[in-house]
Parts: sequence; structure tokens; C-alpha cells
Amino acid sequence: MTPTDKLTEYFTKFPGIGPRQAKRFVYFILRKDNRFIEELSSLILNAKKSTMQCSSCYRLFSSEMNTQSSICDLCQNLNTDENIIMIVEKDVDLENVIKTGVFGGFFFVLGGSIPILDKSPSNKIRAKELFERVKNGAKNGLKEVILAMSVNPEGENTILYIHKVLEPLVEKYSLKISTLGRGLSTGTELEYSDSDTLQNALKNRG
Ligand SMILES: [Zn+2]
Repeated sequence: MTPTDKLTEYFTKFPGIGPRQAKRFVYFILRKDNRFIEELSSLILNAKKSTMQCSSCYRLFSSEMNTQSSICDLCQNLNTDENIIMIVEKDVDLENVIKTGVFGGFFFVLGGSIPILDKSPSNKIRAKELFERVKNGAKNGLKEVILAMSVNPEGENTILYIHKVLEPLVEKYSLKISTLGRGLSTGTELEYSDSDTLQNALKNRG
């Protein structure tokens, strides 16, 4: 396998990138001068080095401003509403919700979703970590868990599974589990929703 083939193979591992787009990226890079390529490689390395995973919400955050702690700025913020936590599938979803500024509670990043008829759902998402996070939250005043999954069958399946995971806590702490209102129409991804859409979806949660 030539280095060019190998590079193409790496790009096909990116989310949403097929072999043809991967090839386009490779040709784009090969047409650039060495400086561009060196800068790109060192940027990737530096971004990786300066990023940590929050041990509470599991989002990736820049550790430059916060070298001591493994807890991100969002989870440390005293103004965050501790009554409510939003569960999202991935980091970009969380980032978009923050950008819209319509939600003031805590977050949790599941790290994926569960395909229908999946044999080992607990391996697809951070199920155990979610249980622990919600349990600790419930002891400290958490009242509601909002499930903000993708509006598709896989998202629905994930919602059903999380209900099962959290069931013991719902009874014990009389927690409410809600789902974002279907103002997010079918196929709309949380990562692309604007603040009006999201505000509606929050208002119509149930
Ligand atoms: Zn965090």
C-alpha cells in the first residue's frame, strides 16, 4: 500500500467521509506546500495534547485554562442549574446547545447511540457512567433528566434503553425523565439546530 493509499484510508475513518471525499482531501493536501502540511500535523498533535476528557460530563475540553482539574469549566460553573441535566450523544451536540444559550443545566455525553436489535447496548454508550452521574446528581438536588437524542429509530432505541438503565433511580429519587419535543423534526440533528428550534424543543419536552 502506498503512503497515499494509506492516507486515503485514514480519511475514510472520519465521520461521514466516504472513499471519494477521502481521495479529494488527499489530493488537496498533496497540492499544498510543506509548510501547510507541517502546520496541519503539529496543530493536530497540539490540539490532542491540550485536550482532556471531563470526568463528570465526559466532554472533551481544552485543558490550557484549567490544568489542575479533570472537571471541565461547565461542570465547575456555580451558576449551572443543578436541577436539570441534558443527555446528548456526542460532543458537537453539546457544543451546539451551549452556543444557542437556551439551556442552563448540566450535560452528559453518552458517546454514541444504540442500533436497533443491538446485542450489547451497554458497550455502545456510557451506560454505567450515566447511571453514576445521575445517581450522584439526584443526591444533590437533580430533578429532571432530558434526553436529547437524534430524531430517528436509533435515537428512539437509545431513549428506551436509557429509561431502563435509570429506572431504579427514577423510583428512588422521584426523578423525571423527559425527551426533547419533536419541534426537532424527523431527521434534524441536534448539532445543526438553531436556538429557536431548540428553545421550542425544550419548551415542548415531555
Ligand atoms: Zn464536564
